Amino acid sequence: MSVCIKDKIQNMNLVIGCNIGCNYCYAKNNVNRYHITEDFSKPEFFPKKLRLMDKARPQNFLLAGMSDFACWKKQWCDAVFEKISENPQHQFLFLTKRPDLLNFETDLENVWFGVTVTRKAELWRIDALRKNVHAKHYHVTFEPLYDDPGKVDLEGIDWIVIGTMTGAQSKKVQTDPVWAYSLTKQAHLLNIPVFMKEDLVCVVGEKNIVQEMPYEFNKVLEAQKVWYKQKKTASL
Ligand code: SF4
Repeated sequence: MSVCIKDKIQNMNLVIGCNIGCNYCYAKNNVNRYHITEDFSKPEFFPKKLRLMDKARPQNFLLAGMSDFACWKKQWCDAVFEKISENPQHQFLFLTKRPDLLNFETDLENVWFGVTVTRKAELWRIDALRKNVHAKHYHVTFEPLYDDPGKVDLEGIDWIVIGTMTGAQSKKVQTDPVWAYSLTKQAHLLNIPVFMKEDLVCVVGEKNIVQEMPYEFNKVLEAQKVWYKQKKTASL
């Protein structure tokens, strides 16, 4: 049975807003609908949320679900990375569509940097990520996958995610299962785990869904179970 990626990785929206301007941006729609900030094109930092990292319960966090890391100011990065370094019980994921704007380095073991690739013409982002961001772990999110990415250089990548278009535009743009299978095969040849998002079930069928997580994320999820068990025992 397929699972929702949000059961495994939670969003922590430390920064809300982005000026990249993707036309399918769900974050912008939500921010505008619920008036979360005044202007989505002007990213805002919410430092009070940093205390969420202090939780002892281990979690996998996506920190750029409503923004793009390329839009983050240096002082925001400094505050966030200092806090990450104090909380090795969690894993932290960052995502960008503009790795060409980055020049970043971290030696933290629990930080994962990734790029979004939606089509073949965006494969350059993977090279730019490896060139401009020096981190311990890299990931690539192929979502929403618009066309056949063909042969992809996944050398040095530690995890890939594949997803299709959701919402209103899903009738117009659909991922071909052949593209998803091709990416999966290429990743598996390099022993890279693959996670097909739950929305791909209607494209590839339940029996063909692949939902693998990196060892480090599974370790966090196991530690989370232990944490819940201990809490339950303590409350008896
Ligand atoms: S990069 Fe992400 S947050 Fe920014 S506009 Fe595109 S989809 Fe929205």
